[in-house]
Amino acid sequence: MRQLKSYLGGQWVSGEAPMSTITSAVTGEAIAETSTRGLDLGAALAHARDVGGPTLRAMSFVERGELLKRLGKIIHANRDELIALSAENSGNTRGDAKFDVDGASGTLAYYGSLGKRLGEGTFLLDGPSEPIGRAPRFVGQHVFVPRRGVAVHINAFNFPAWGMGEKMAVSLLAGVPVLEKPATATAVVTARVVELWDEAGIPAGVISLLAGSAGDLLDHLGAQDVVAFTGSGDTGRIIKSHPRVLALNIPVNIEADSLNAAVLGPDVEVGSDTFQMFLNDVIRDMTQKAGQKCTAIRRVLVPESSVDAVWEEMVERLQTHAMGDISERSTTVSPLSTASQQRDILGGIAELEAAADASWTHPQPCPEPGFWVAPRLFRTDKGIDAPFVHEHEVFGPVSTVVTYSGSADDAVAIVAKGGGGLVSSIYSDDRTWGAEVLLGLAPWHGRLQWGSKKVYDQGVGPGTVLPGFVHGGPGKAGGGEELGGVRGLRFYWQRTAIQGDRALLEKILGKVEA
Ligand code: NAP
Repeated sequence: MRQLKSYLGGQWVSGEAPMSTITSAVTGEAIAETSTRGLDLGAALAHARDVGGPTLRAMSFVERGELLKRLGKIIHANRDELIALSAENSGNTRGDAKFDVDGASGTLAYYGSLGKRLGEGTFLLDGPSEPIGRAPRFVGQHVFVPRRGVAVHINAFNFPAWGMGEKMAVSLLAGVPVLEKPATATAVVTARVVELWDEAGIPAGVISLLAGSAGDLLDHLGAQDVVAFTGSGDTGRIIKSHPRVLALNIPVNIEADSLNAAVLGPDVEVGSDTFQMFLNDVIRDMTQKAGQKCTAIRRVLVPESSVDAVWEEMVERLQTHAMGDISERSTTVSPLSTASQQRDILGGIAELEAAADASWTHPQPCPEPGFWVAPRLFRTDKGIDAPFVHEHEVFGPVSTVVTYSGSADDAVAIVAKGGGGLVSSIYSDDRTWGAEVLLGLAPWHGRLQWGSKKVYDQGVGPGTVLPGFVHGGPGKAGGGEELGGVRGLRFYWQRTAIQGDRALLEKILGKVEA
């Protein structure tokens, strides 16, 4: 069986027994094992801080960007191998695996280009300088400088390649070395990517990998380190309240649960282009990666007047999707990644069943073996008062149609009942209604998408995270923010106001104009 190793202190190392077993989502059989027990994680962090940090900080943005481009190209060159591993470990169809693997190389390439644009410097000025006294010589200038620690990245099971790539791209461009900790259950792809990078040669200490449980990692954090976490709200709270994090005020970015919504406007006619866009987005999000996307649409708000037509169309489309052999093109819904996800989702489905006014189950029996769950659609006419629907994210091929009056106020109130989300989308060609709903929803979200007739065939859907736009959301979604082009780098930087003689400041900072 494959033994996963961690890449710490520039060495591939294994922990002591007992090992954690990693299973195939398709066969349920063990395919790999790993352990982090007994590994010296304090020394690993110190190596990244002391060796990787100075190397990266000495590199210009252009050079860091070139490194990112190289990392992305290595993933791309080994795409087929990674897609096959993703199928073996996570049970992804080829399309779902590509979404993860290409997402990783694409995000690294995007931040690589951003490095070129940021130029030959190693840090950035933040806005213009401002005079302090009466003499124009004495000024203050804000600067962003890379923190002198390690960025600890703890990721969820659903995107073993992209999850690492999107966090790492931002951190390395900012000038901060990374320690990547993927979810143990799907760490096979992540570990192989780091192995490929190591084989091709990466600067010492810049990238570390912990392939398995976090162990006592957080006990060794230093005051200049940061933690970026993606996963469940419960784990997010444990990390945020870790004594070391609290004592040293270590910045923690959290991407957690989200009850993303799609809202159909009352003006949209069944069968129109805007309607088709709405349907495409909702069905894609229910089926792609078997609904195991943090951005997937969980609640579908539909005006009472068109709910029967919407339900019929959704069922018709969902019936064209099939589970089965993941290597076949005809299979469009993959199994869930782990047995524990399957258990959780079946529990969530039982709760939705009890709360719903109607439900539909994909008629195909689930294949065996493997962690399959058939697509499920629920409907509630209880709007904002519907139990469970606005509280709990069921992380699978599952969505609930929520009927509403069609008023902008009702739409905003119902979506906001989710307590804060990563992304929601609205579909309407009515500018007044659209503006009211969008601006009402904005404080509750990190990202919004407006679907309408002029762009009906343009989008990749709200469920696709794009590196140039922020990913994260307030409240239940964790209160975090990642990506967003240069905005994402700020998490890894300290903003410092430097006051002094303009001429002297210009010597160390470059042009400073009061
Ligand atoms: P999870 O159980 O919270 O695990 C996430 C990560 O945290 C894993 O790497 C896990 O490691 C690690 N972890 C667990 N306990 C820890 C601790 N005490 N200290 C440090 N690290 C710890 O979540 P998951 O099962 O992977 O993902 C499930 C949920 O994540 C989904 O239901 C979804 O809501 C959410 N999610 C959100 C986003 C987003 O971008 N907002 C994306 C994907 C998923 P081990 O695997 O070794 O236990």
